[in-house]
Amino acid sequence: MEELRKGLARIVSLIKREPIIDRVAVKKTLRELERELLKADVSPDLVLELTRKVEERVFKEDVPPGFSRRELLLRALYEELVNVLGGENKHELKVRKGGVLLLVGLQGSGKTTTAAKLALYYKKRGFKVGLICADNYRPGAYEQLSQLANSIGVEFYGLKGAPSVEVALNGVEALRAKGVELIIVDTAGRHKEEKDLLNEMKELVNSLKPDEVVLVLDATIGKRAGAQAEAFHKVAPLGSIILTKMDGSARGGGALAAVAKTGAKVIFIGVGEKLEELDPFDPPSFVSRLLGMGDLKSLVDRMRKAQLVAQPDALIRGRFTLLEFKQQLEGLSKMGPLRKILELLPGSYEITPELEKAGSENVKKWIAIMNSMTREELANPDTITRSRIIRIAKGSGTSTKDVKNLLTTYKRTQKLLRQLSRSRGGRLIPGI
Ligand code: GDP
Ligand code: MG
Repeated sequence: MEELRKGLARIVSLIKREPIIDRVAVKKTLRELERELLKADVSPDLVLELTRKVEERVFKEDVPPGFSRRELLLRALYEELVNVLGGENKHELKVRKGGVLLLVGLQGSGKTTTAAKLALYYKKRGFKVGLICADNYRPGAYEQLSQLANSIGVEFYGLKGAPSVEVALNGVEALRAKGVELIIVDTAGRHKEEKDLLNEMKELVNSLKPDEVVLVLDATIGKRAGAQAEAFHKVAPLGSIILTKMDGSARGGGALAAVAKTGAKVIFIGVGEKLEELDPFDPPSFVSRLLGMGDLKSLVDRMRKAQLVAQPDALIRGRFTLLEFKQQLEGLSKMGPLRKILELLPGSYEITPELEKAGSENVKKWIAIMNSMTREELANPDTITRSRIIRIAKGSGTSTKDVKNLLTTYKRTQKLLRQLSRSRGGRLIPGI
C-alpha cells in the first residue's frame, strides 16, 4: 500500500499548492488521481465514478461559511474515497463468549495465519481462545496450526485423517469442555474452484452453525477479489471478510474497493506475516492514513458541522418535507456521537449517555424507515395512510408504532422550525 499512499499524498500536496481551485486545476488533479488509483488496480469504472463525483461536488456544493473551495475539494476527495472503500461505518466480527468463527478461503489465502492472528487478537481482549484444525488435506496443516497455537498460548484441537465436519464438531465439544470461550475453526479450502469452496462452506456451516463465517481473501489478486467476495456474499450474506497481504501489495487498494462494492464487510486487514500484523479495518481512518493527513478527518467533521448549523435558515425558507428531515438525520448520523454535535449548537443540552444511545438508535431506525418510503411519500408526508404505514413498517423491519413515532417527530420538528423562523435560535430535533 506504500505506493498508493505516496501517490495520494502527492495528490493532496498538489491540491494544497494549486494557486486557485478552478475547473482546470480540479481536472488536472483528478487526472493524476485516476492514474494513481488505476496503478493500485482499482477497477476503471470505480475510478471514473469517484473522480466524476468529486468534480461534480466541488462545483455544485456550496462552500460552507468559513471554508474554501480547496477544503471542499479535499473533503470530497476524502469522502468519496471512504465511500469506495466501504463507507463510514466500522464493522466488527460477531464475537461472544461461547462463540464459533469459521474461516474459509482458497488455499494460500492466509487462513491458517489469520486464524492464529485472530486468536491472539481476542486473547489480548480477554477471551480464552481455542483453534481447531479442520484441514486434513494439506500435509503439515495440523503441525502448522498447533505450533502457532502453542506460540501464542491458546488451546488447540485437531484429529488427523478424519473428515473436516467431524473434526470441527468434535473440536468444539472438546474445547468447550476445557472452558474455551471463543473457538476459531481453520479449514482446508483445497479447491481452486469457487463452487467447491462454497459447497464445502455450506456443509460446514450447516453442521457447525458458527456465529460468523469469515472469508479470507488474498489482496494481491487486486480487483479480482470482487468476484470472490460476491460469490461468497451470495451464500453467506452476513459473512465478513479479512483481506490478507495488504502489506507490500500494490494491488491492495483495488482489492479493497472491489470487495466493498459488493457490499461485503471487510473487518480486518492482514499487514504482514507476523501474528501481531492484523489491523481492524475502518475506512475513514484508513483513508486518513492513505492521504497522509490526520487532520483531514477533523476538517471534514468541522465542515459538516458548519453546514448543519447553517441549514435551518434554508430549511425554514423552503418546504420541510420528510426528504429534508431524512437529509438532516443522515448528516447527523455521519458525524458520529450525538454529544459532540449538540455541544456545537447554541443553548445547553443535558444529554445523559442513555439518552444519547437511545437517540442514536432512533436515528438509525428512522433512516431505515424512510428508506422504505417512496419518493412521493417523502415529498408529501400527508399521503402516508394507515395501510402505507403497515407496508413501510414491514419493508423496514420495524413496527407501525416506530413509523408513527417517526411521523410524530417529523411533525414536531416541522412545527419547531416554524417557531424558529420567528425567534432565531439553534437547530433542534425533538426526541434525539
Ligand atoms: P492458507 O493456505 O490459507 O492456510 O494460508 P497460510 O496461512 O498458510 O498462508 C500462506 C502464506 O501467506 C504464508 O507464507 C503466510 O505467511 C503468508 N501470509 C498470510 N497472511 C499474510 C499477510 O497479511 N501478509 C503477508 N505478507 N503474508 C501473509
Ligand atoms: Mg492453511
